[in-house]
Amino acid sequence: MEIRFEKRPVLKEKPDQKNLGFGKYMTDYMFVMDWKKGEGWHDARIVPHEPIAIDPACVVLHYAQETFEGMKAYRTESGKIQLFRPEMNARRMNRSNDRLCMPEIPEEDFVQAVKALVKVEEDWVPSEKDTSLYIRPFMFATEASLGVHMASAYKFIVICCPVGAYYPTGLDPVKILVEDELVRAVKGGTGFTKCGGNYAGSILGQIKAEKMGYTQVLWLDGETRTYVEEVGTMNIMFKIAGEIYTAPVDEGTVLAGITRDSMIQLLRKWGYKVNETHLSVHDLMKAGHDGTLEEVFGTGTAAVISPVGELRYKDDEVIINDFKTGELTQKLYDTLTGIQWGRIEDEFGWTTGIEE
Ligand SMILES: *Cc1c(COP(=O)(O)O)cnc(C)c1O
Repeated sequence: MEIRFEKRPVLKEKPDQKNLGFGKYMTDYMFVMDWKKGEGWHDARIVPHEPIAIDPACVVLHYAQETFEGMKAYRTESGKIQLFRPEMNARRMNRSNDRLCMPEIPEEDFVQAVKALVKVEEDWVPSEKDTSLYIRPFMFATEASLGVHMASAYKFIVICCPVGAYYPTGLDPVKILVEDELVRAVKGGTGFTKCGGNYAGSILGQIKAEKMGYTQVLWLDGETRTYVEEVGTMNIMFKIAGEIYTAPVDEGTVLAGITRDSMIQLLRKWGYKVNETHLSVHDLMKAGHDGTLEEVFGTGTAAVISPVGELRYKDDEVIINDFKTGELTQKLYDTLTGIQWGRIEDEFGWTTGIEE
């Protein structure tokens, strides 16, 4: 794929690396390419990050035909910049695109676009401990038409923003509310995709949880509201009596997290039994009360791992591991971040340099 480059006359000033937050500062450039029926993908370009003009009748504004991905570029101690399993994001975006009736992007073009943009934005990849460059590829229907159908035109864009350390003072357990009324996904729906509509539908549950003093929502299955599925933008794992439990990702309701997959590979290598199975909220709370629920943690690109210190389901409440980060949670965090930032050897071949 050939990529045209349009230079910005003046570059932006870079923000303070100690105060980056999440998603606040956009870099200088973005990758853009267009798709048109009969023509396919064309005009790949890296251009200044700036507002784009779209018609008010644009399909995405009415029917939410949109998919996205989330990934990071990491600067190692030697200054090298690397990505973590980018081909997994490419594959997952195509699974989302298939479900939303949007065109696929060849995996190698997706990875090339990300690498080329990060190369141009090299100076934006921060070097402070645990900071990174967050990368957001997304695609949407641009056709101006109010008919509900597969659109004839799409745009694929990649933007990036430097993000701060998620845990500046060490891993920090969160309180989670099990949502017993609203649902996120049902079999046959779009739960397994990263499509914008899934997240719009989840905000109400999030607000409800926050009002009650909880950080995140744990969603139950949409049909019976019995089995634990996942958290807002994280998969979730439970260590019960020495074994790991997490919801299966092959039934269409749970997002197949790349962090989840990586953690499972590490856990199995360390000899843990990982059960990708349905766990009922009743068995979960019971384990919390009888002392067999040892650790609970969320997994996702943004936080890597998020220890859970408290779970609430209706009027029932359990505190996990005295509200402290568990030993295994910490070991998983140290190992995965060690590989991502190049501090420990990557024996899985998960990382790839942006110039490879
Ligand atoms: C992105 C996301 C995850 C985590 O996926 P990663 O690839 O690990 O970042 C989990 N659940 C949902 C709903 C998500 O949107």
